[in-house]
Amino acid sequence: MSKPTPEVYEQGKGMDAHNQAMREIRSRKEASYDPHEPTRVWLDEDNTPDGVKTSLTIILNTGGCRWARAGGCTMCGYVAESVDGGSVSHEALMDQIDSCLEHEEDNAEERADLIKIYTSGSFLDEREVGAESRRAIADTFADRDRIVLESLPDFVDREKIGDFTQHGIHTDIAIGLETATDRVRHDCVNKYFDFADFEDACAEAAVADENAGGDTTAGIKAYLLMKPPFLTEAEAVDDMRSSIERCADVDGCHTVSMNPCNVQRYTMVDELYFNDGYRPPWLWSVARVLEETADVDAIVVSDPVGHGSDRGPHNCQECDDRVQKAIKDFDLRQDPSVFEQVSCECELTWETVIERERSFNQPLTR
Ligand code: SF4
Ligand SMILES: [Zn+2]
Repeated sequence: MSKPTPEVYEQGKGMDAHNQAMREIRSRKEASYDPHEPTRVWLDEDNTPDGVKTSLTIILNTGGCRWARAGGCTMCGYVAESVDGGSVSHEALMDQIDSCLEHEEDNAEERADLIKIYTSGSFLDEREVGAESRRAIADTFADRDRIVLESLPDFVDREKIGDFTQHGIHTDIAIGLETATDRVRHDCVNKYFDFADFEDACAEAAVADENAGGDTTAGIKAYLLMKPPFLTEAEAVDDMRSSIERCADVDGCHTVSMNPCNVQRYTMVDELYFNDGYRPPWLWSVARVLEETADVDAIVVSDPVGHGSDRGPHNCQECDDRVQKAIKDFDLRQDPSVFEQVSCECELTWETVIERERSFNQPLTR
């Protein structure tokens, strides 16, 4: 894991203060979960460099993210869903995979071409998923087309990717970069790594891609956070636009997934929200960014979670479903004209917010 500089550990300041606050908030959780069952599993569709595919999406329960145990990111409540005690055995992990395969058999007509595995942490961190489990999971899905594995950049390594590409599976590593701006990632998200670490991970994936040979590919999918806390709506839009552009320019990064922030329990964002200090992004902001970055050299998608609710990205309630539908259309077709077909009176409020909101008086609206 890359080390933050000593100054950020200065007691009671910067990351140290963020981590202290986050540890206190997370310690209020009481839930505990069964290590033999995945956190969640579902079937959906996703846009890949080879077109739209049916996807079996799995959230493996691996004991949770190490960074979250130290305090962790200001918007992330996932640790509250992880197993108590920190680590999950090979047998339990394989039980979770079996249970996902059963879910697929019961609910899908055909096997999904695409498998996505998230862990609320890093699939490639061997403290979460050991080498034995990683290889067994690669064997299990050897007959699929493509796999997406979530990891922090530190753990991305050509050999680990090779465990999957050697079976001829296209392999993408999903990295929660959140933003290309180091200052925003450190101070607003409380994530410890730098954009340079992301670039290194992309370079590792590019080597894995070369090593894979034949038609098999390896690449990076960047996950970005639209509107971290402490940014105004306009600052969030600017930061996201430039982040997408910078990611698309990095060799090896072929897809950017922009995730509008939603208010999860046991997080700093939740505290701010509760005290009227945070509003999730407008769906108009998401649409604006997708429209303006449609010509970058990468697939750009967004899947607003909890759209239309107070704790999720929302407009005025009247138009939320329509704008969400346009965003989902854009994900599949990458055509910015989908946004010309939606409009609503609340656009004027949103434009005013973009123009007038300042960080000392945000949020301007509920
Ligand atoms: S966002 Fe990722 S790195 Fe941050 S605490 Fe959550 S799981 Fe860990
Ligand atoms: Zn509206």
